[in-house]
Formats: sequence, C-alpha cells, structure tokens
Amino acid sequence: MPHSYPFLTPEQKKELSDIAHKIIAPGKGILAADESTGSVAKRFQSINTENTEENRRLYRQLLFTVDKEADAYIGGVILFHETLYQKADSGKTFGQVIKDRGWVVGIKVDKGVVPLAGTNGETTTQGLDGLYERCAQYKKDGCDFAKWRCVLKITPTTPSSLAIKENCNVLARYASICQMHGIVPIVEPEILPDGDHDLKRCQYVTEKVLAGMYKALSEHHVYLEGTLLKPNMVTAGHSCSHKYNTGEIAMATVTALRRTVPPAVPGVTFLSGGQSEEEASVNLNSMNKCPLHRPWALSFSYGRALQASALKAWGGKKENGKACQAELMKRAVANSKAATGKYEGGGAGAAAGDSLFVENHAY
Ligand code: 13P
Repeated sequence: MPHSYPFLTPEQKKELSDIAHKIIAPGKGILAADESTGSVAKRFQSINTENTEENRRLYRQLLFTVDKEADAYIGGVILFHETLYQKADSGKTFGQVIKDRGWVVGIKVDKGVVPLAGTNGETTTQGLDGLYERCAQYKKDGCDFAKWRCVLKITPTTPSSLAIKENCNVLARYASICQMHGIVPIVEPEILPDGDHDLKRCQYVTEKVLAGMYKALSEHHVYLEGTLLKPNMVTAGHSCSHKYNTGEIAMATVTALRRTVPPAVPGVTFLSGGQSEEEASVNLNSMNKCPLHRPWALSFSYGRALQASALKAWGGKKENGKACQAELMKRAVANSKAATGKYEGGGAGAAAGDSLFVENHAY
C-alpha cells in the first residue's frame, strides 16, 4: 500500500486543530441551533407559535444575544443555512454576531436522511453532491466547522452491516471534503434511543459503529486532530423496563469510547438525544468524574437539552425575551460545569426534568 498523497499542509493541519481546540476549550461546548425549518415547526408547535421566517429569526436572535457571561460556556454554535445569513436587528448577519462574540461558527451541511433500500427501515444521509463547492462558500462566509448527522437504529435485526458501512463511509467522505476547505468536521453517527434494548446492547452497537467509522475515516485520510466526534451517550432504549443510573451510563459510554475513539481526536461533544435537560447535564458530569482515563475532552453539543426551557419560557412572545435568555444561561452554566465534572445538579429550569424524547427523531 503506497503512502497517501498528503492533502493538508502543516499550516492547514494547525488551523484545523486550533479550531477544534477552541470549540472545546475547558468548560466550553456547542449550542446546536441547526434545526431544519421542519424541525423548528415541531418545536414552535409545542409553544403555539407560527413557524415563519421572522419568528425563527426572533427566537435565534435571543439565543445568540444571550448575556456575555455565556462566552465562557459556549465555544461554538451550529447553524442551519437560513440562519447563517439572517440578520439581527443590528443589521449584522447571525454568522457575524456569533463570530464577534468569539464563538466558532458552524454549519449543518447534510441534507437529511433517505431510505436504504432492502433494509428494515434503515437510512443513509444525503448531501454529498455539491458539498465541495458549498464548503468553499461557507468557509468564505465565516464557517469554521460543520456537522453531518447519520442515523442508526437498534432493533433485533439492525443496524445491518450495510447501514453501518454506508453511513460510516458517507461520514468519512464528508469529513475529508470539509478538511480540504479548512472546516473542522463534526462526525455524528447517532444511534437512536428508540426501542426496548438494554444498556449492554447499546454499548455493543455503539462500539461497532464507532470502530467502523474510524476505519472509514482512516481510509479517507481524514486528519483526526482536526475533527470532533458527536456521538450518542450509551443509554438503554427509551422503552427498556430497567432504569440504569448515571454511574452505569457514564461507565458504559466511556468504556465504549475508550475501545474505539483514537486519542488523536481532541474532543467528544455529545448530542442530548431526547434526554431531559437535567439528565443530559448529570450524565455528562458523571462521565467527567469517571475513574477511567480519558484522552479526549468530553463536552456537549446539545440542541434540545440547551433549548427546551428557553423555548418554553419564550413562548413566542416578545416580552419573554429576558426569561428565555435566563433559561438558556442556566443550562449553559450547568453543562459547562458538567464538562469539567463540577456540576452538582439542581440547575433546573422551566423544562429541566421534561423528557425531550421524540420518536424516530429527525433534525
Ligand atoms: P439534540 O441534542 O437535541 O439531540 O440534538 C443535537 C443535534 O445536533 C443532533 O444532530
């Protein structure tokens, strides 16, 4: 096997690695605000708010103009295409608003899931066509990292080896395209929490998927130091009758990661995957207190678990802007502490204990 033809200069590698480290600096994580227009519709429906472009702008403006105390807790924000170019009342684009705060600007570049023929309801993620050109443009427009989400399902017959192979390959191809443009790829092979499987089965599947994914990233010559991993935590299925405690979840998750994620990867930023806000914070904290050695930072890239209380407090009403921002701040503080193993619990907000589970979740 010949040596690969290096595609990144030492300067390009340094840029990627610096971006990744900036996002996950101690006590910092990611605000995932990249819900597609369809996903926002569902969130807004829960607060009886119409899903118009202006309402999306007003809500996201509240998130991105939260008090500057949050600059110590948030390292990066993932945006949906529309949001990157929308303007705040000040006239600045949201991309610029975020950059000016010192947060790294991220962009969701996948185009959602489509069926994989001949499987038991499994999917792959589309969006590779034109991605090379889109990444070039996004980099010019201020984006320094990207997200691509693949979805795998646990049932007695899934994930199939085809679904694992296909999704790992598409994640690797996406990651290599991003890196050619100086964009740090967040690779997200999400294993859904739907089902009644136990913790051990989720751990087993998580290990198989992550092992397959890092093999694919290696085949595509991806520079691991300039990537971030966004995995599910290892939890039992949502309808499993046995409830596991946070110590068990932390041990299963860190064990799975230690077996599969190379130490060259600088950070792991978990998705919240339908856990309540409080659960997502407590579990992240437990992992950071786990006695097993961890060569990577363990932090957050939460959507629902950072926004649920904020969204509820806003309720689509202008006069609730401050309350919305106060709720976001509570979760940002809680998760920042959890990312360093210092969260004591009790940062409860308006929706902190509510389950945020959505069946067969799309983003
Ligand atoms: P949740 O934290 O709501 O699971 O979403 C994070 C995300 O970006 C999923 O792709």
